[in-house]
Amino acid sequence: MPDAAPPAVESASKRFRTVEVRRVERVTLKAVRITLGGDALEGFGTPLLGGHIKVMLPGTDQVRAYTPRRFDAGRLEIEIEVILHGDSPGSRWATAAKPGDVVDLRGPGGRGHTVDPGASWHLLAGDACALPAIGMVLEALPATARAIVIAEVDDASEERPLPSLAEVQAWWVRSGEVPGQALETAVRSIELPEGAGQVFLACESGVMRRIRQHLIDARGLEPASLHTRGYWKAGIVNYPDHDYGQDD
Ligand SMILES: Cc1cc2nc3c(=O)[nH]c(=O)nc-3n(C[C@H](O)[C@H](O)[C@H](O)COP(=O)(O)OP(=O)(O)OC[C@H]3O[C@@H](n4cnc5c(N)ncnc54)[C@H](O)[C@@H]3O)c2cc1C
Repeated sequence: MPDAAPPAVESASKRFRTVEVRRVERVTLKAVRITLGGDALEGFGTPLLGGHIKVMLPGTDQVRAYTPRRFDAGRLEIEIEVILHGDSPGSRWATAAKPGDVVDLRGPGGRGHTVDPGASWHLLAGDACALPAIGMVLEALPATARAIVIAEVDDASEERPLPSLAEVQAWWVRSGEVPGQALETAVRSIELPEGAGQVFLACESGVMRRIRQHLIDARGLEPASLHTRGYWKAGIVNYPDHDYGQDD
């Protein structure tokens, strides 16, 4: 499952760049927005929709993938949102991050999602850590687009505005004992509009596979119309960043 970045971009994106934390903001109780910036971002390629950057967590040898929610090439700043899901290295870093901290990052990487302007509808589904990518895709949709968002979060306080020019219908579902179960149930039961649509789906790897199979087998969607990502896997530390679920 290699990323499809061309070789020149690949080599620049594999180099670590030293930046600093510019701003830290609590978006919700469990979402921390961190803006990273510095001259080292000169020449950083514009991230693709739903692509990722890799952050070397300071004081550790651990690298984690996050969505470059916004990249400002003029100010040389990248904004990420870290979802606090427990006592993990990434969550600990985001909780303690403060302006002036030095951080190494590399990227951008990942295949990215290409919006089909001819799609009759867009289904954007995921768990809390997919919200930055879903937000990115929503902001790329034209005013003529129709989007259905299904997002699984812990509780109502984790819901947030989803700015887009498109017509957006959002369904927020609550996580239960089994992460992703509410998301899967909601996707299985949603009535999709007529016509050929496009899907962006990102969540726990096993849940992603089950939803992907459902969309192909039961809803008759073309695999080419699906951009699916396993962002993490239950019980696995630092799950690989290139699980597109294309084993059907
Ligand atoms: C392309 C891509 C984009 C991503 N974008 C974002 C983003 O913008 N924001 C974000 O917060 N995350 C994002 N992720 C997910 C993030 O990289 C993983 O959740 C990562 O494992 C977090 O590292 P950690 O140190 O918190 O947990 P780890 O040390 O990797 O894992 C510790 C334990 O926590 C579990 N775990 C890991 N992630 C989650 C989770 N999200 N929810 C519940 N349990 C979990 C693991 O199964 C493991 O048992 C993205 C992943 C990919 C591949």
